[in-house]
Amino acid sequence: MCQVKLIVSNWKMNLNVSDSKKLIKDLIKFSNNNSIEHVVCPQFALIPSVSRLIKESKITLGAQDCHHEKIGAYTGDTSVQILKELNCKYVILGHSERRDYHSETNELVKKKVFLAISEGLKPIICVGESIEDRKSNNYLNIIEKQLDVCVPNDYNNVVIAYEPIWSIGTGQVPTNKEILEMKKFTYNFLKSKKRIHKVNFLYGGSVNSMNFHEIMNDTKVDGALIGGSSLKIIEMNKILTFC
Ligand code: PEP
Repeated sequence: MCQVKLIVSNWKMNLNVSDSKKLIKDLIKFSNNNSIEHVVCPQFALIPSVSRLIKESKITLGAQDCHHEKIGAYTGDTSVQILKELNCKYVILGHSERRDYHSETNELVKKKVFLAISEGLKPIICVGESIEDRKSNNYLNIIEKQLDVCVPNDYNNVVIAYEPIWSIGTGQVPTNKEILEMKKFTYNFLKSKKRIHKVNFLYGGSVNSMNFHEIMNDTKVDGALIGGSSLKIIEMNKILTFC
């Protein structure tokens, strides 16, 4: 029997209304695999239509971000409340593109994580180092700081997505040994410092149908966060029929 994998599709700011409808309808055809929980995270404006389309399917809905306050004068932002009303179950938080392009700090990510949890959404907390930190051997310090600040104590259903920044959208993937090192480091750190024993550890960064199976089999991570390949039905067909 296969271990259930969590596959998170991060569509980022891609797809228009009609293309997203077509992709979702095609994805629904491949969503009968009991060994996979597939979470689709569209940009905010697509969430209502995607939410309607997946109602009777096994696909789960997620968002790519949320605001750290419940409600208020925050022009351009989206609340956890609305995401819940639209049937989102997950929210990606602390993605490196949010950290880079919107100056999100670990402290801000922490606030979002706390709010998401208190409102019943499952956060997918992204951590990852830059190429400079990897090359200078400083990467474990960076990841430790991110885990330490962003992950609450004693929260036992934590989903961590390890996404080295140098791997996102580049085609460069860490070795399985490097992914395993990070998985062990994350488990050990969260167990000892935060008393968290149930961790879902995902890998993200240039995952495609060619490398997915090997990464899953060799590292036994709990799933993947997928950007570019999640927009292509041929890729997702091969990935979602895993096992
Ligand atoms: C991402 O941005 O979360 C991601 C993993 O992107 P890609 O798969 O395109 O590298």
